[in-house]
Amino acid sequence: MLKSMLDMSRRDFVVSTGMAAALGLSGRLAISPAFAQKTPDPAKPFVTYKVGSAEVTAVYDGIWEKAHDPAFIANASVDDVKAAMVKAGLPPDFVSIPFTVCVVKTGGKTILCDSGTGGQVQPTAGKFMTNMKAAGFDPAKIDTILISHFHPDHIFGLMEKETNKPVYPDKEIIVSDVEYKFWTDPAVIDRLPEARKGLARRIQAVFPTWKNIKQVSGEPEVAPGIRFVMAPGHTPGHRAFHLSSGSSQLMISNDTAYVPALVVANPGWHGQYDQDANMAEASRRKLLDRVIADKVQICGYHFPFPGAGSIQKDGDSYALTLMKA
Ligand SMILES: [Zn+2]
Repeated sequence: MLKSMLDMSRRDFVVSTGMAAALGLSGRLAISPAFAQKTPDPAKPFVTYKVGSAEVTAVYDGIWEKAHDPAFIANASVDDVKAAMVKAGLPPDFVSIPFTVCVVKTGGKTILCDSGTGGQVQPTAGKFMTNMKAAGFDPAKIDTILISHFHPDHIFGLMEKETNKPVYPDKEIIVSDVEYKFWTDPAVIDRLPEARKGLARRIQAVFPTWKNIKQVSGEPEVAPGIRFVMAPGHTPGHRAFHLSSGSSQLMISNDTAYVPALVVANPGWHGQYDQDANMAEASRRKLLDRVIADKVQICGYHFPFPGAGSIQKDGDSYALTLMKA
């Protein structure tokens, strides 16, 4: 079944390329990454569900179909990664990394959980603003934006491409003080790997000039019924967000277990994007154990859309059961 699907997409791709040539498009255009996207966008790019009296809307921003790279998981081979994708019901020929932003309405406030890619991370992502408006949200009426960490796919939606102008100049943006201080320390640029230096430079050129960023320590309540949860390792100040309303709870796990097909099923796998892999693994196990013990729902920024479900113990590892779109 999977093989025939792959054959079909390859055949379609050849047809499409031929069609593009017939239409006079250049070969380069015909094989652009956006053109070759294999994962269909969800038919409905926003899904609303209740957590007590709070309303959570998962809004789709897009997907990165990441080419396999032996360096992606330090202690697993590309074949292991492909097998894990298949086991999760996903295509094996790339790593599916979707981006989903939660918009939470609770206690009379509208809260964004991270900001999307802003169309500045992958050509196959950047649909958050359009989809949020289609879901009925007015960006002018957002009260607060919670930021889990300063990786591009979570913060570039805050700033305009090239000009760096704020997209939400008068909204309260809340981030952990540890995360803010790490990335805005001028000395960090020398310590970061080459691939992250540009990110730190952009953060340092932009965020210190904004007056609407609020830094918080520890695990405070940052919006009605929403608390930060310390989950460091992915980055030094990475936070999950815990939403509670009445007797219902949702752990908005952000990147604690970013690609669940890989690191929920294999919590000991060490991914390239976890800055401190050992600490990230400890945070991941602690958070997943808590979600199981408390019997609460979980969602994740890179979980398959709409990104919410429940976690069960599976021997020494974990299994994610996803809510249907
Ligand atoms: Zn991410």
